[in-house]
Parts: sequence; structure tokens; C-alpha cells
Amino acid sequence: MSVAHRAPLKYTGIPASPGIGVGPVFVVVAEEYKVREFPIAPDRVDAEIAFFAGAIDASRRDLAQIRNGIAAELGEHEAAIYDAQMMMLDDPDLHRVVEGEIRNRRNAGIAFRDYMAAVAARLERVEDEYLRERRADVMDVERRVLRHLMGDSRRGLTTLTQPSILIAHELGPSDVALLDRERVLGMVTEVGGRTSHGAIVARGRGIPAVVAVRGILQAATAGMLGIVDGFLGHVELEPEAETASRYRKRRSRIEKGTLDLRALIEQPAVTPDGKKVELAANIELPQEVESAVAAGADGVGLFRTEFFYLDRAELPSEEEQVRAYRMVAERLAPRPVIFRTMDLGGDKVASYLGTTHETNPFLGYRGIRFALSHPEVFRTQIRAIYRASAHGKARMMFPMVSSVEELRAALAMCRQVADDLARENQPFDRDLEIGIMIETPSAVWVADLLARESKFLSIGSNDLIQYTLAMDRDNERLAYLYEPLGPAVLRSLRHTVEAGHAAGRWVGVCGEMAGDARHAVLLVGLGVDELSVSCFDLPRVKAAIRSVPASTAIAIANEALACECAEAVRALLHRELDPLLPEFLVGDGSGS
Ligand code: PEP
Ligand code: MG
Repeated sequence: MSVAHRAPLKYTGIPASPGIGVGPVFVVVAEEYKVREFPIAPDRVDAEIAFFAGAIDASRRDLAQIRNGIAAELGEHEAAIYDAQMMMLDDPDLHRVVEGEIRNRRNAGIAFRDYMAAVAARLERVEDEYLRERRADVMDVERRVLRHLMGDSRRGLTTLTQPSILIAHELGPSDVALLDRERVLGMVTEVGGRTSHGAIVARGRGIPAVVAVRGILQAATAGMLGIVDGFLGHVELEPEAETASRYRKRRSRIEKGTLDLRALIEQPAVTPDGKKVELAANIELPQEVESAVAAGADGVGLFRTEFFYLDRAELPSEEEQVRAYRMVAERLAPRPVIFRTMDLGGDKVASYLGTTHETNPFLGYRGIRFALSHPEVFRTQIRAIYRASAHGKARMMFPMVSSVEELRAALAMCRQVADDLARENQPFDRDLEIGIMIETPSAVWVADLLARESKFLSIGSNDLIQYTLAMDRDNERLAYLYEPLGPAVLRSLRHTVEAGHAAGRWVGVCGEMAGDARHAVLLVGLGVDELSVSCFDLPRVKAAIRSVPASTAIAIANEALACECAEAVRALLHRELDPLLPEFLVGDGSGS
């Protein structure tokens, strides 16, 4: 049967992860647990009631474990919310209603979800603000019990049956980290920015992505053909056959270009006039170390270890962390790996750590602040990193440092851990280098002081830009103002490089800015010694470094510093660099 072709639906968003995806659409339903309803046979009613009781018991055990961890670490007061959650599980009403529903032959999952939805709706209507906020706890309890009731079938996302383009309102970093890479051709979200962590993980995993595509969910339905152009930020639904074929051909050309770049794997990142730049990879998950090696990285310049803490019910143990960190260190040796200690908070929250709602999470309890206030959790991670250091060249750095006091507190903890390990006769690298990230304007302005007490500085440009310009990195409406090339940012970069070098320290950049070919050359010109970029960007950045003499990059950087606005810097970069860069970096929208 032939169906009249509807006009293609075209959208433009923010290009968040390069690449082209063409394939059927899969719409991600916002609801985290898709609970199915099915009738229970009369002779299965008792078993279903027992199944429900088992899920409640397992949830109670989870909560008790979390509660005790929090109580030991933060005190009884902080643990109280878990007492409240455990009380919800013991509520006689809950058991009476759900069991009654099961006797009416409804399955436990649906009966439980309906009960919790009614509780949440009641809380929504109460005047008392404190009680209203308990809604988050109700939802937490609901998710926990449903996880036990539904086992692995928990997310629509994991049930992809064919390679698809995902379309969602929002995908968090742990959602993207858990996607089945073989079955995801591309992803589109309605919200987010280029440096949202969901987008960063997509880049790390090579998933073409466009974010901030408003309203697309209204039009998207499962099975439609979709196109994602992660270079230019274009998305098309139900394209003409000719358009789809053009994009498929483009995808093949890009795949071939990527193969051609393989020739560079063995080559160093050296400018034509002989300046060596350390070119490392960013990874989010231990197994991504393989992509870093395959891309020809000089090491891992940023391992975002916090992903270890996300999307799970309890803290990762020291042994589990040692295993993962050791695997990465061993695989890379003799190349270095920089373990960035847990950067939780902001958009990366682990509910079992007792994170509470904050009005301004990016200005709140995150990074090193969060770590220092969870000393047991932090110490366990530091121990694991030290222990892994016996098996390769490990370094460590702290995120979001804003003062010398914070650095000193973290270093004191490291010294204590090293002493403990020495007493226990555990092998570790006594000379493990500890550095910091420069991500806040305050760190920029005390970079000279911080550089005295740390071995290196790595600029986290994603956050540094957001805090310097006061522009939320996740806010799609501000994306056009979130500007790496503005004079305030360039001056901050230069100041940091000078402060680091004056103290004899190397200075790197590990934010997304370093992954853009032209920006990378500018950073080299500003004196940056190391760039750490996604595995996808790495060969492209290497090609750019190998095409532009350092003397030219320095002259361009000096001219850029004299520009009054970002637009002028961008024009300068195009004018001076496009004639020098390989054609594949200038065309195809894969540069800035
Ligand atoms: C940064 O802020 O630039 C950075 C590398 O850290 P993250 O993106 O994880 O905040
Ligand atoms: Mg950061």
C-alpha cells in the first residue's frame, strides 16, 4: 500500500556530538520505569503478594545500608531522611492497599505504582512546604521498589531492539553512559547545551547528537525515519528519500575520513616547527580506555571518575574502584592517566549520598566541596587511586577548587592515605603527581598560589566559561552567549598559563574547547602544554597541531588577546588558520 509522503520536518538545535545518524526513531518516554499492567491468575495471587513483600524487604535492606553509611559519615541528622523512607515501606496502608489490588488480580508493579502516585498527588496539594518537598522521597522510594519489582526491564532505553535514533526530552550523563552503543545511531534532546554532561558522554562514546531541539517530541513517533547531523545541529524527521540517501553517503565519507585519520595514530602531536604538545583523551568510563589507545592518545588527561558513583544504589567499594582504575593504568602504561576525583553535585547527583535539592546546584555543593564534606567516601577513592598507581603512571587532580584552603585540605587527606598505605605495606607510587583543575574565576586569580602547592594545572574550560561569563552551560537559551573566544575567557586562560609556568608547572586544557581544531591551535599559541579531548576529536586536533607552526599560533594568540570581542577572534582564526588546516577540518562543519 503506498502512503502519500508528508513534508519532512526540519529542526535546528545545538550540535553536541559530531557525526551523522540515519535510521528509525525511538522515542524515549520521560517516565523512568515503564510499568506494564497484566492480570494475575487466581492461583498466582499469593505468589505475587510474596513477590511484592520480597521487593519491599530488599528495598528496606538497601535503605538500611545507605542509611548507616550516611549516619557514619555525616551524622544521624543527615540519615534521618532514610528513616523516613523506611517508614514509608512499613506503612500498613501501603501493604493493605497493594495486597487488596493484587487480590483483585492486578500485578504488584502497577498496584504499587498507582498507590505511590496517589500519595505523591496528595502531597502535591498540601500547603505545608516541608511536606510538599517530601514528594521527592516518595518518588525515590517508588523507584527503589520498582527496581526490585522489575529487575532488568527497568528502562525503555535498554530495550532497543534495532539500531535507532533516540529522541528524548532530556538524557542525563548516566543514561547516555548506559546506552547500548551498537543500537544507537544518534540522539536528540529537547534541552541541554554542548557542554551538558549528557552531551559530553555522547561525544566520548561517538554518538552523533543534537541538543536543544525544542518541541521535537510532539512530532516524533516511533519508527519514523530520522536524520541527525551532529556537525551542524540539523535534525530531520521523515526526510525525502533523496535527502536520506545524501546523508547516508555523507556518513560513509566521514567514516572513510576517520579511517584516513588512522594514519596519524602513531604520529606525535608536534607542530611543523617542532613544538610537542601533549595530546591526551578524556574518558568517562573505564572501558573507554580502549578508544583512547585506538585514537593514538598520549595518555588520559581527564578520567571523569564520578560516573562510577552514578546510577547505582550504593557506593562503589574501594576494591571495585581499584580494579577499574588499575585496569586503566595498566592498559595505558607507560602513558599517564589523570584521575579526576569525584566531581559530584551540579548535574551529577547520586541520591544515596544524601544530595538534597539546591536552588543553584552549579553554585552549590559540588566538586571538591562535596568531596571534602564526605571524607569517608573521598578517602576511599583516594586510596583506590593510590593503589592503582602501583600498576602504571597515575596522576590525580581535584575539580572545582576555588581556594588554597580547599587544596590544602585535600592534599592533607592524600598524605594521610599515603601514610596509611605505607604502614599497611601496600605498593603505590610515592611520587604520584597531584594537580588541580582551574574551573572558577577565583582559581584563575589565585593560580600562582595554587601552582605552588600542586604539580600541574588543568583548565576545565566548560566550567570556567560558565562561571566567568555567568552563563549556565546547560541552558539552551544562553547557548549563543556561552562563548569560549570572548576576551574575559582568553585573558583568564593566558593568566593561568603564565601563573603556572612562573611556578614551573605545566598547564593543560581538558574542557570541550580543546577539542575544536581552531580553538586547540589558539590554546597552543596561548602557551598551553597539554590538551585533553574526546576520542573522536583527538585525531582531528592532532592533524590541526601538525599543520600550524607554533610561531604562527603564538602570533595569532597575541592578536586574539587584543581583540575586543569573540566575533573578531573567530574571524581571525578562520582567516589565518583555514589556509593552513587540512581540507577535512575546514569543510564538513567539524571545526568551529
Ligand atoms: C570542565 O569543566 O571543563 C571539565 C572538564 O569538567 P566537567 O565538564 O566534567 O565539568
Ligand atoms: Mg568541570
